[in-house]
Amino acid sequence: MKIKSVEIFRHDLPVKNGPYTMANAQVWALESTLVKLVADNGKVGWGETCPVGPTYAEAHARGAQAALRQLAPALIGKEIQPLTINRLMHGQLNGHNYAKAAVDIAAHDLLARHYDIRVADLLGGATRERLPSYYATGVGAPDDIARLAAQKRDEGYPRLQIKVGGRPVELDIETIRKVWETVSASGMRLAIDGNRGWTTRDALRVSRECQDIPFVMEQPCNRIEDLEKIRPQVSHGIYMDESGVDLATAIQAAGRGLVDGFGMKVTRIGGLQQMAAFRDVCEAFNLPHTCDDSWGGDIIAAACTHLAATVKPSLLEGVWLAEPMIETPYTINEGVKIREGHIRLPQGAGLGIEVNEALFGAPIASF
Ligand SMILES: [Mg+2]
Repeated sequence: MKIKSVEIFRHDLPVKNGPYTMANAQVWALESTLVKLVADNGKVGWGETCPVGPTYAEAHARGAQAALRQLAPALIGKEIQPLTINRLMHGQLNGHNYAKAAVDIAAHDLLARHYDIRVADLLGGATRERLPSYYATGVGAPDDIARLAAQKRDEGYPRLQIKVGGRPVELDIETIRKVWETVSASGMRLAIDGNRGWTTRDALRVSRECQDIPFVMEQPCNRIEDLEKIRPQVSHGIYMDESGVDLATAIQAAGRGLVDGFGMKVTRIGGLQQMAAFRDVCEAFNLPHTCDDSWGGDIIAAACTHLAATVKPSLLEGVWLAEPMIETPYTINEGVKIREGHIRLPQGAGLGIEVNEALFGAPIASF
């Protein structure tokens, strides 16, 4: 089964009740890039990549589209084997994992559909059908975030991620404390996500002043060297997110004992092939991690969920989806939804979702 054609689409995802606020950015709408692979037997697979604006990572929508235009011609006529396709893409373009990921996801979808199995089965097999999600609050006023935390606790979310940074650290500390007073009796787990926005001074102060509150600090500061600096001085677990730019960096961080876990994004690491390897590295080091992406519609949501289903349950911190902040799904069938803080693994072959291509209009490029 060979690749017969590649089509690239763009699709806007307005942020429901926007903006979504992080330490370094506010986003009102995201431009998603979709890849449709068609095989010579007529079977189709879909992939997607959707950076959460141009400042979250070294990635942006138009960059993904340019990279995909660069990659697509070399894919035509090639066997649909995700590992081979990844090696081929690395031979065509250095870096740009987040663009390659869209092709990788589409290849997994297509191959799994060909075998009439789910992507989770292709990735090693699902360990369960219902996956825990977690809610990310955005940066906000302490009382507002505490109210939101109570609401999400009541909805059934097992974990909450509080966004901090980009403002006086006293406000972050007040927010963390108010949320903890609200949810501490519930068993809800907390992650405090600085999105690179704290100085090491801020991170040290938060850990010192919140010693009684159990949380993990996710990517509190910008650089790996910052994490090294605070690591021996904090009393909270440290998770790497944005700094984990590829598999080699994640392996190095795990092997050196620099981190206690990861927030990991399927597209940042380069797709499902690399993410499955990352999953196995984390299991070898007994490190918990999430299976997320920075943003994206139903294709990304399904890809994250299928991978998450294959993670050793005790090490899965949850699957964050943009779904609660997306107005309209682009699927014909139900798509991927968070219900009571959990996600049901799609049942059909491939990613298990049926994309309503008519919503995307004409492709921006075809090969
Ligand atoms: Mg994060």
